[in-house]
Amino acid sequence: MSAPDDEVRLCHLYPRELNIYADRGNIAVLRMRLAWRGMRLLVEEAGVGDPVAPGRHDLYYLGGGQDRDQAIVAEDMARGKGRAIVSAVEDGAALLAVCGGYQLAGHRYVGVDGVVMPGIGLLDAETTAGDDRLIGDVLVEATLDGVSREVAGFENHAGRTHLGAGATAFGRVLAGFGNDGRSGTEGVTYRRAIGTYLHGPLLPRNPWVADTLLAWALAHRTGERVTLPPLDDALEDAARAVAAGRARGGRQERLIGRRA
Ligand code: GLN
Repeated sequence: MSAPDDEVRLCHLYPRELNIYADRGNIAVLRMRLAWRGMRLLVEEAGVGDPVAPGRHDLYYLGGGQDRDQAIVAEDMARGKGRAIVSAVEDGAALLAVCGGYQLAGHRYVGVDGVVMPGIGLLDAETTAGDDRLIGDVLVEATLDGVSREVAGFENHAGRTHLGAGATAFGRVLAGFGNDGRSGTEGVTYRRAIGTYLHGPLLPRNPWVADTLLAWALAHRTGERVTLPPLDDALEDAARAVAAGRARGGRQERLIGRRA
C-alpha cells in the first residue's frame, strides 16, 4: 500500500550499531521539519538480520559507529541488504550516511586494526584508517542541487576517505579535515545520497541539508519535484554561526590512538 503524499517513510538502518554522537538528533530534526509543515515522518528500523522492503522507503539513514560495530554492519549488509539499499537509491530514494555509515556506503573501509570491511559500493569512495584521529569542528562549503551553502559540523574519525575520479564531493573544506585532511574535499554525493563525516548531529544546525533531503524524499514519494515552504530558521542559523566560528578559530586536533 502506498503512503499518502504528506508522509515520508524513513528507514533507520542499524540504529543499535550506528548511533554515536547523537545521530538520532538528525531524525528528530527531519520529523519536526515535516510536522511544522503539516506532514509526518514514519520511521522504521532495520537492524541486523532485518530485510529492507523494495520501494517502501523514501529516505535511508545510516549513522556513525565504532569499528567493531561497523564490522557487524558490514557483514550484515553483505548478505543482501547492501544491494537492496543501492537499488533503492538508484530508483530515486534519498540517503544520508554519516561517518561510519558513510565509510560503509563506499567500496570498503580498512579499519584501525587492518580489518577489511566491505562497503555496499553505492558511493565511489574508499576509506583506510590512518595513524591518528581527525577531530574537531569543521566548516564546509557544500553543494546540493547546484546550490552552495556553508555547512558546519563536528568530525571524529580515523578513516581517510579517497574519492573515485568521477565522484562529486559533498563540499569543499573551509576549516577542519574533511575526507582525509589533505584533499580539501568533504563527503560525497551521488543521485539523492549524501555521505559525510559531519556529526553534530548534522541536521539541527544545517536545516538546508535537512530540507534538501526531505524534498528529495517527497519527490521519491510523489514522483514530482517538491519545493518546501520556508521555516523560520533564526535559531538554527545562530547555532550554525557559533559552530562555524569555532571551526574557523582552528579548534581541531590530531589525536594519536586510533580506537573507535
Ligand atoms: N570508526 C570510524 C573511524 O574511526 C568511524 C567513526 C565515526 O563514525 N565517528 O573512522
